[in-house]
Amino acid sequence: MANEPIFGTLALIGLGHIGSSVARAARKHGLVGQVVGHARSARTRDTAMALGFVDRVEADPAAAVDGADCVMLCTPLSAYEDLARAFAPALKPDAIVTDVGSVKGCVRQSLAPQLPAGVALVPGHPIAGTEQSGPEAGFAELFEGRWAILTPDGAPNAAVDRVASLWRGMGSMVEIMSAEHHDKVLAITSHLPHLIAYTIVGTAADLEDHTRAEVIRFSAAGFRDFTRIAASDPTMWRDVFLNNKEAVLEIIQRFNEDLTALQRAIRWEEGDKLHELFTRTRAIRRGVVKAKQA
Ligand code: NAP
Repeated sequence: MANEPIFGTLALIGLGHIGSSVARAARKHGLVGQVVGHARSARTRDTAMALGFVDRVEADPAAAVDGADCVMLCTPLSAYEDLARAFAPALKPDAIVTDVGSVKGCVRQSLAPQLPAGVALVPGHPIAGTEQSGPEAGFAELFEGRWAILTPDGAPNAAVDRVASLWRGMGSMVEIMSAEHHDKVLAITSHLPHLIAYTIVGTAADLEDHTRAEVIRFSAAGFRDFTRIAASDPTMWRDVFLNNKEAVLEIIQRFNEDLTALQRAIRWEEGDKLHELFTRTRAIRRGVVKAKQA
């Protein structure tokens, strides 16, 4: 039996990898009556219509949110404030505004001052995605079996429940936490790994030409996995590091200390220390696989 729609109209601001996946998943599961989209470029708007995952596109963000029950921002974080300022006057008085941004502390700061009283703000973040970008890169199954974190920080329960139902309807498991806690957890599970990947691939690219060719040839030795992560969208990741500066800097400090300890263990040939660490980390990988997050 088809689901009752959770929202009559869902407006998606940003129709790239994540926005187009939400559109596809929400329609596939009958979670919304209609999807209206806005993206910056005519090319993306035309592609969204041609691929058929939206009912309508609008070049003006205010026209896109007009009449929408839920507005979901799916653009890079740096675009939020200007977009909210542009669409806020057209919001329904009881609309719910949510988002998918990878950092959460900054969202309330950039959106809340723009929104009229009565509009609920329920920031969110699906822990799902690939290194691909753009409307062609989305797919309806992206969120299945993945976590969606909501950081309502005082938003009305009814609004939080409806946004949670949307994510559950798309196949996700929902967790609720404070924005501050989210940003600390994601600094270690996502932001630092991306920073390390960008660094390793950057270091390899700086090596002299002959070695660089060898790096590509023998990349299956480990480097290959880092190149996939380091292919992630530059705008999105610039925004992540600038908006989660404190938590990321703190985790880099911890990481540097652990790296120095490892450096000492290698220098002094402390094989037991290396073996003990690698045994612990192998168990963590097995835990990730067991939790079906591999
Ligand atoms: P994406 O594929 O590059 O899509 C971004 C979309 O935002 C495009 O449709 C783009 O329009 C639009 N956009 C950019 N600037 C805009 C502006 N100023 N005004 C209006 N539209 C604008 O990016 P994505 O991977 O979907 O990421 C979107 C958000 O999801 C980010 O905040 C990111 O932190 C979050 N997120 C990403 C992942 C992931 O793995 N990719 C996972 C979880 C959360 P044009 O195409 O016309 O430029």
